[in-house]
Amino acid sequence: MKDCLFCKISNETINVEKIYENKDLIAFNDINPQAPFHILIIPRKHISTINDIENQDKILIGELFIAAKEIAKQNKISKSGYRLIFNCNENGGQTVFHIHLHMLGKRKMSWPPG
Ligand code: AMP
Ligand code: ZN
Repeated sequence: MKDCLFCKISNETINVEKIYENKDLIAFNDINPQAPFHILIIPRKHISTINDIENQDKILIGELFIAAKEIAKQNKISKSGYRLIFNCNENGGQTVFHIHLHMLGKRKMSWPPG
């Protein structure tokens, strides 16, 4: 997608410090962190919202969670814990329309979320 911020990050038109990457996904720090550890894990494939996930994407979506587990291990937050979030559309608070898994850690989260 030509005008998508996260596609540009994925194809390195915009350079960011990568936390983790493989052929299918990339993870990088959120520009406006809501916790001491706040990264975004995105598929390289452009998918606008969770509503746009297709059956053929099921392995890809699973890989986002496998990456989260690996990143947790690398950053030593597996045991202390972390939160994973997908926001969808207006009520979900989505502002970037290329799906991204928020991963927050290194502080205690509250519930319910705001
Ligand atoms: P959401 O509101 O769920 O769509 O989340 C979008 C996230 O992308 C927000 O947490 C922003 O802080 C983050 N964000 C926006 N632009 C950038 C950027 N250039 N680099 C890293 N994170 C970004
Ligand atoms: Zn995109």
